[in-house]
Amino acid sequence: MTIASLKEEWADLLSRRAELRGTLSVYDDLFDAWERWTPGRLTPLGWGREDCRRRWERGVPLLADAPPPIRADELEELLAAAMERVVVLANDARPSLGRLAEAWDRGEIAPAALFPAPGRVGSRAVEEASGLAPEVAAFLAYGCLRPALDHYFTECRQHLDEHVWKVGVCPFCGSPAGFSDVLEHGQRRLACHLCGGGWTFARTRCPHCGNERSRDLVRLEPEDRDQGYLILGCNGCKAYLKELDRRVRWNAQSALVEDWGSPHLDLVASRAGYWRPVPTLLQLA
Ligand SMILES: [Zn+2]
Ligand SMILES: [Zn+2]
Repeated sequence: MTIASLKEEWADLLSRRAELRGTLSVYDDLFDAWERWTPGRLTPLGWGREDCRRRWERGVPLLADAPPPIRADELEELLAAAMERVVVLANDARPSLGRLAEAWDRGEIAPAALFPAPGRVGSRAVEEASGLAPEVAAFLAYGCLRPALDHYFTECRQHLDEHVWKVGVCPFCGSPAGFSDVLEHGQRRLACHLCGGGWTFARTRCPHCGNERSRDLVRLEPEDRDQGYLILGCNGCKAYLKELDRRVRWNAQSALVEDWGSPHLDLVASRAGYWRPVPTLLQLA
């Protein structure tokens, strides 16, 4: 999935969801900034199948053992675009974002501070330097890292086979699952919005906490017009994930586009008392 095709898909989704167009247009500039990004000196991680497999068998995402050497100047424009998008929706975040920009300019906060760590996206240093809420700091990571991480992991994608990775976070970067797709033969594929990775995962488990008690896993079905979409909530950890059954909606778009393009389903989930580990821009408003 290239950034250019994501952008095309986004335009197509906006035409389908005309009633949400005004709300969703806040993402447009972000896709434009992603498309303008070029790799510079960042080269893809050249690990072979065995290098990757050794980490995956231990449940370690590749980024933890091979952090991408992204330089501050390679990410600067994207971070600025993500920060501007946050300001549009949450003007009161402006002073905190100003502090973050200063810490970035002084070199105290570098791209690696935005990487996932166990249980979170972005290090605590980002919040401490800026005063931003954890979900805003995490959104900035999602808003600026995608093109660079996608590029960095391109050559390793082919090494992942179905049975080696059993964890609910991304095998490439370690970010929590952002969306769930049910594919042609009924198998479930989880999607990572941070790097664009995907991996198969049992349909009978909560990816966020590993809970398998069926009475805890609830399905909230949206209205008829959203046939094929489902909200999966877990009463163990109270987190949810949106899922799309691609056997019903064969013409749907990529996971990221479907996720960002369905804020009305997030509203249903949050009204029912569930939260999501992967923040969306609209939740920050
Ligand atoms: Zn990832
Ligand atoms: Zn759970």
